[in-house]
This record gives sequence, structure tokens and C-alpha cells, in this order.
Amino acid sequence: MALIVKKFGGSSVASLGHIRRVAWAIASAKEKGEQVVVVVSAMGGETDRLLKLSEEITSMPAGREQDALLATGEQACSALLAITLESLGHRAHSFTGMQLPLITDENQSKARIIDLKTDILKKAINDGIIPVVAGFQGVSESGNITTLGRGGSDTTAVALAAALKANCCEIYTDVDGVYTADPNICPKARHIEKIAFSEMLELASLGAKVMHVRSIELAQKFQVPLVVKSSFNGERQTWIVNEEDIMENSIIKGVTLEKNVSKISLIRIPDCPGIAHQILEPLAEAAINVDMIIQNASIDGYTDLTFTIPTTDLNIANELVNKVAREIKALEVRADNNIVKVSAVGIGIKTNPGVAARMFKALSEENINIEMISTSEYRISCVIEEKYGELGVRAVHHAFGLENKNNHQKEQ
Ligand code: ASP
Ligand code: MG
Repeated sequence: MALIVKKFGGSSVASLGHIRRVAWAIASAKEKGEQVVVVVSAMGGETDRLLKLSEEITSMPAGREQDALLATGEQACSALLAITLESLGHRAHSFTGMQLPLITDENQSKARIIDLKTDILKKAINDGIIPVVAGFQGVSESGNITTLGRGGSDTTAVALAAALKANCCEIYTDVDGVYTADPNICPKARHIEKIAFSEMLELASLGAKVMHVRSIELAQKFQVPLVVKSSFNGERQTWIVNEEDIMENSIIKGVTLEKNVSKISLIRIPDCPGIAHQILEPLAEAAINVDMIIQNASIDGYTDLTFTIPTTDLNIANELVNKVAREIKALEVRADNNIVKVSAVGIGIKTNPGVAARMFKALSEENINIEMISTSEYRISCVIEEKYGELGVRAVHHAFGLENKNNHQKEQ
């Protein structure tokens, strides 16, 4: 019997009506003979609502308490779905991360999974009970409730699929898969039927909100068959597969806009060994993800260093950097959150010369100034002024011929 992990995102369980529809879908999969393990997010908007509540009390809530608070969203939803399934005549049990247990490190709000026990789930499955697991949460070795970062229920689902050796992990959301760009920004964005793990990883890291980055890493590592589907419209889907399984490829697969990005510049710092380390080490210790890093050519033994970080970490990063800046006698620290990052992603980049130039041309034709550039095998990213973000995405999407000529036409 096929064992399938089905994960339902916040928009799929946004109301009791939605939850009922999800319960019907689970019931019909079960009737078709699938063994199902369900993972849920909090009801749509709930995590933000809880965050706002704690923000009303303080801008710096204790990480331990913030995670205890946020985890309730998923817990409530898993119980509501189990109650609904039972009301439809099926046996279902909800499980929190702590009950499994899903054990994580101690990093509150961005914990990583260390171990995942499946005995309790296997027993439920054997007893004919549908397990409904609260996503996004775990328990640390010291016993604190932790969360895996925004969107982390995807990671719970993939981790469970890997641990249970499930036949497939299905991610249900409010769109029918992955598109060449956000259709809200690019109305002519095209649906993608198959995308490589490496491309999906870049798209997700670069602001495409479809999936949690860590979930794709895990799926690739454990070779979990992974598919993104719409909860309420079953026609199309996107499979995330190995590079070798994609026969034909366009150079660029998709274009993203990342808004949660800010930059910090240190002006006139000594150009000598150890300085970059001294500046960036405290950020690493605080688990702040430093992304693009640019150091200028040095003049008279001095240089400038600029890097980007998530805007959500700007306040704390700024504090840490200012401390080091005083120690190394930097002339000035400048923080700027008025920027966004536009990226073109595709496995064709590494084998096709001139891709970057094509992207720069597309931006320049719209008179958009590029403030920072970074490239890798799979992507080219440009930091530009925030107000040009959407225009930049459309320009790059057009330049690589990604537009759908006919809105009803599927990708070949
Ligand atoms: N509820 C959490 C969030 O909104 C986790 C998730 O949905 O995956 O980020
Ligand atoms: Mg999500």
C-alpha cells in the first residue's frame, strides 16, 4: 500500500469549511487505498496574528516563549482536522512535535531537526488511525518547544516522508505548483511541470514563497519524491526532481523578487587579515544569514565592506555590527532596507555564457540601477531599489522569453 505524506498549508485550512474539504480529500485518498500521514500548518493568518499579539507586549519577546506561542497555531489546526475526520467517521489522532517527538537543536525560531521518531506514527497507521501532525514545531534536547522558521511545516512533512520512507510527499497549497514568476507580479508567468531540486532550492531561498528552503534540501538529500499541488484544483502540479530527470531545459527557469533583504555597509575599515571575520562572526553566532558580501579594492590600506541580510534580522545585525565597527574604528556604518533582490534561476546558467549580460541589459533598458550583483552556478542576483522590484522582475522574465504566449497553454 502506498504511504503518502500530505501537507496542507495555511490557506488550505484557513476556515472550518476549508478544513472540511481537506478532510474529504484525505478520506477519499484513504478509500482509494492510500496510507496517509497528514501534516498541517496553522490556519491561514494565525501565525501572523499570534506574532502581532506578542509584538504588542514587546519588540523583543523571549525566543522560548515566542516559539511556545507560535506552535499553538499548528497544534490547534491539527486537532481541528482530527476532530473533523472523526466526525466524518474516520479514526484520526493529532500529534504535536513534542509528542512524536521531533527533536531539534536549541535555535529558537529557526531550529533544525536532529532526530525524528516515528514509532508512535507507525503504530497509529497500523491501528488504522490517520495521524495528523502539527507542522513547524519540535522539541529541543533541553525540552523547549521550538519552531523551524516561517514556512517550516513543509520541512516537517519532508522529514516525516524521509523517516517513514513514504512513497511521496505531497505539498498542498493555494496554487497548482511553481510558476516562472509570481503571477501577481507577472500575469504571464508560466506553470512549470518539472523543476530540479537545485533550481527549486534557489527559487525558495530567493523569495519564491512556495516552499521552505530546508524542506527541499532534505528532499534532495533523502531522495523523497516531492510534488506541489493545489488543494482545491487537481489538474496541474509541479514535480521537484533530480537534474538528470529533466530532459529539456530552458536556460532560466524562473525569476524571483526577494523583499526581506537589507544591506549594511561599513565604510573605511582597515584592509588587513581577520577584519571580515571579526565583523561577520558575531552575525554567524546569532544565526543571521549573511548573503551577498562585497568588499571593495583597497585604497591606502582601507576598504569598504557591504553585505545583505534578511530585513527581519536588521535591528540585531545593526547592533552587532556597530559594536565591531567601534572596535575596528570604521568611519561609518550604513544600514539600508530600501532594497530588494531580483534573481534569475536556472541550471542552464552554468553552461550558457552571456546570461548575466542579458539580465543586466533587461534592467538597464528600464533604467534600473544595479547596486549589488552576485552569481552562482544556478543564479544571478541583482540588488536594486525597492520601488523598481516588480518592474525588474517583469523585465527579466520577458528578456528570457518565459512569458506564456497563451494563458491556457501548459508547459511542453
Ligand atoms: N504557520 C507557520 C507560518 O506561517 C509555518 C507554516 O505555515 O509552514 O510560517
Ligand atoms: Mg508555506
